[in-house]
Amino acid sequence: MFQVTMIGGGVMGAATACFLARDHGAAVTIIERDPSYARASSSLSLSSIRQQFSQPVNMALSRWSIDFLRRAADELAVPDDRPAIGLVEPGYLYLATEAGAATLREVHALQRAEGVDVALLSPAELAARFPWLAVDDLALGSLGLSGEGWFDGPALHRAFRRKAMACGARFVTADALGFETSGDRVTGVRCADGTRVAGDAFVIAAGAWSAPLGAALGFTLPVSAKKRDVFVLETPAALPGCPLVIDPSGFWFRTEGSLILAGGPPRGDDVDDAPLDRIDHGLFDDQLWPTLAARVPALEALRLRSAWAGYYEMNAFDHNGLAGRLPGWANAFTACGFSGHGMQQAPAVGHSMARLIAGLDAPLIDALTPQRLLHGRPLIEANVI
Ligand SMILES: Cc1cc2nc3c(=O)[nH]c(=O)nc-3n(C[C@H](O)[C@H](O)[C@H](O)COP(=O)(O)OP(=O)(O)OC[C@H]3O[C@@H](n4cnc5c(N)ncnc54)[C@H](O)[C@@H]3O)c2cc1C
Repeated sequence: MFQVTMIGGGVMGAATACFLARDHGAAVTIIERDPSYARASSSLSLSSIRQQFSQPVNMALSRWSIDFLRRAADELAVPDDRPAIGLVEPGYLYLATEAGAATLREVHALQRAEGVDVALLSPAELAARFPWLAVDDLALGSLGLSGEGWFDGPALHRAFRRKAMACGARFVTADALGFETSGDRVTGVRCADGTRVAGDAFVIAAGAWSAPLGAALGFTLPVSAKKRDVFVLETPAALPGCPLVIDPSGFWFRTEGSLILAGGPPRGDDVDDAPLDRIDHGLFDDQLWPTLAARVPALEALRLRSAWAGYYEMNAFDHNGLAGRLPGWANAFTACGFSGHGMQQAPAVGHSMARLIAGLDAPLIDALTPQRLLHGRPLIEANVI
């Protein structure tokens, strides 16, 4: 039986393992150093999905993934469970002032050409649709009409793990340190506890911590951990039909039941590995709250209930995932560096990675090949949150 050894059991590793075991009959071993996933991006994600990207590859991955998420209960059913992932589809709403309107129109044309179900709305149309929104300074809004929303990311991650295990995949708790190789082939993974895991193919899916593993194979993966804060807000205000709103300032908010989740780009230097317990409360007090209250006057009355932080697995080269064969190696692959959009892409990327490792074509992820790092050809995504 074809044996695949993966490093990292987050949503990317779990999805790839699931499709390998379910669809290709592979014997999969997943090496994961923290089975609580306490610091994994997959546990700390906002778990939202959008079609409004500027790169066709990202639009195609999200289209594939939303179809899969709608069928997740069937696709990922195990004998004692049909997983509920709580998908809702209220859309994303990108707002622009006059300064950003031309870009929004350009990206809209690209999206329409790819068949994305999105509409441009004037300030009057925005006010009619979302009466709680202040539109005076706005020139335009771009609203996703279908295929966009959010879901329970940890539930999806768990469902991939359970389905993978039901199809024979094995999770082992160990810290992968390096590799054993022979010519252009990897033959085993060396772990900190002295164990060695063999395989016919190997996958680095270690999220923000993938770079040292790439380096162990002589390949620079420009991926590091960038902390992002999420604020959980209580408000008596109701915002009917509220999509995930991206304000022209870069701040964003969405509802979660009766709560509001909000955040935005970090202040100051975006350093690597900032401690997750150091939430920047000044960001909320000085910038985020005033911005929210100006955009949604009813939010003047909001209260900060809690906050959390997680790491984006940021690909400094072009802020897009690296998925495919590792250059220079016949049987080593990676799926990492998804830079804040990996939860929504995990179904499509996991499915494609499994096909690639099984020796089949995987056109959906052709553009994400790590080879682009060597060719100096970045895949620039204009719509990064
Ligand atoms: C605040 C926040 C908001 C986000 N919002 C969204 C969103 O709205 N939509 C979206 O699509 N995405 C979002 N993301 C991004 C998304 O969560 C990630 O892209 C995705 O979870 C990455 O999954 P992963 O499996 O690659 O990494 P991870 O989930 O981090 O998993 C990597 C795993 O590898 C393990 N590991 C690392 N090194 C080793 C080693 N040497 N040996 C053994 N195990 C190892 C780690 O323990 C970890 O469990 C968000 C992320 C954050 C932090």
